[in-house]
Amino acid sequence: MEPHHAAALQLLIQDPSRVILDPQVVELLSKDFYWYSPVLRNQLEGKVGEIVVQPHSAEEIQKILGYCHANNIPVTARGSGTGNYGQAVPLRGGVVLDLAHMDRLEQIQADGVAVCQPGVRLGVLEGEARKVGWELRCYPSTIIKASVGGFLGGGSGGIGSVAHGALRDFQTVRALEVVTMEPDPRVVFHEGDAVHDILHAWGTNGIISRIWLALTPAVEWSQVIAAFDTYATAFDFAEKIATGAEWSKRLVTVFEWPIPSFFTPVRQYSPAGKSLIYFMIAETQSAALETSAREAGATVPYAGKYTGLVSRPLLSDYTWNHTTLWAMRSDDAYTYLQCGFDPDTVRDQMRQLRATFGNEILFHMEFMKNAAGRVIPGAIPLVYFTTTERLNEMIDFCRGIGVFVANPHVNYVEGGGRYRADNAQLRAKHRYDPEGLLNPGKMVSFHSESAEANTSGAKVK
Ligand code: FAD
Repeated sequence: MEPHHAAALQLLIQDPSRVILDPQVVELLSKDFYWYSPVLRNQLEGKVGEIVVQPHSAEEIQKILGYCHANNIPVTARGSGTGNYGQAVPLRGGVVLDLAHMDRLEQIQADGVAVCQPGVRLGVLEGEARKVGWELRCYPSTIIKASVGGFLGGGSGGIGSVAHGALRDFQTVRALEVVTMEPDPRVVFHEGDAVHDILHAWGTNGIISRIWLALTPAVEWSQVIAAFDTYATAFDFAEKIATGAEWSKRLVTVFEWPIPSFFTPVRQYSPAGKSLIYFMIAETQSAALETSAREAGATVPYAGKYTGLVSRPLLSDYTWNHTTLWAMRSDDAYTYLQCGFDPDTVRDQMRQLRATFGNEILFHMEFMKNAAGRVIPGAIPLVYFTTTERLNEMIDFCRGIGVFVANPHVNYVEGGGRYRADNAQLRAKHRYDPEGLLNPGKMVSFHSESAEANTSGAKVK
């Protein structure tokens, strides 16, 4: 990037300290957790932006995008950089738009809707919400670090999803404002179904600048670990609690042995050889859950009150995609898949996977509610990586037996499993980023259409 662009951007936001050129900082803020995938690790190594700009307001974002549009400079939005498909890694240099400073929680409305800027950390929002009787409906296990805007841009669900579904379900995202990449960038309000134009688009079709997020009444939670002799009995018990409407729960996670052996800080709660279930359950039901688990043949190595994100142990730190992190720390050949099993045939699906792949796949299940309101066995199984071909063989096999796979080893929105079949995100990109300058290369259907249009002389609408 030519040096005069940095000076011009500094002038635009009138604060040189928020326009960063230091190569080390730029490199740091160009990375996320893409190295979770051995495939992406090779593909994205060395991809960096050229300059970081840190806006404070939607007006500043408008100015920055207007300048970048006029000068054909790519812009990649960044929340906290905890995405793990390289969503926030700039493929074509340009500006990294670091939204961490837009961290104002404006209001928690009486109806339980939080209004905030995108850089608010989910952990901060959860803490503030609980002070006034509300809590997040669902959150990723990266809650302490991840931002609300990044969760909308690149996340999907997590703790709480067993009761409230994924982020995109049940109108959890009530509304958002998005800044467009045009000669005169606009701030456009999206409400109701129109939020799906922007959700999980990896910042390719607008910069989210304000969010209305629905919360749920806060519950006093307990954390419980149940240990079973076999994975089959652990799975049966977890399914019973997860699907039983009488249980008020926030987390139901099942790990087959040896996964619990990777959780070094909580090894004292991981009896050797046992499959474990991690629960967050309403405090009023904790004793009943323990009794029920023991009746089903389990021991209960841990049970205690949840005191917020400072709880020790904090069980969510070992669930969802944190499980993969602990496994990688133990042996960096581990990677993962993101799957949805069929609730009616899940046992047969798991049996077929074990018969075909042995211990190359280890079962880590996360129960979650789907959009139809049914609690289903989601999964983030660990995969012992050998080659890309073998990984793809496993993905194809899963799909062949009816297991849904959101492939975390590709770096474009359409491949990751949360892209909408009705092309809502692509249509929004044509409206809001017609030149393809926002996070270029990540929405491949846009770029392939543009290439076709360029060769045929046609204009893409
Ligand atoms: P970033 O990584 O900074 O950004 C994510 C994407 O959103 C990028 O494409 C970025 O360009 C875009 N973006 C950021 N801000 C904006 C904005 N304002 N406007 C438009 N686009 C924007 N995910 C889950 O869903 N559930 C989990 O349980 C979960 N567990 C994880 C555990 C670990 C250990 C790790 C490393 C990741 C996990 N993730 C999980 C992925 C990730 O943490 C979440 O998706 C998180 O919400 C991303 O937030 P972030 O602020 O770090 O976003």
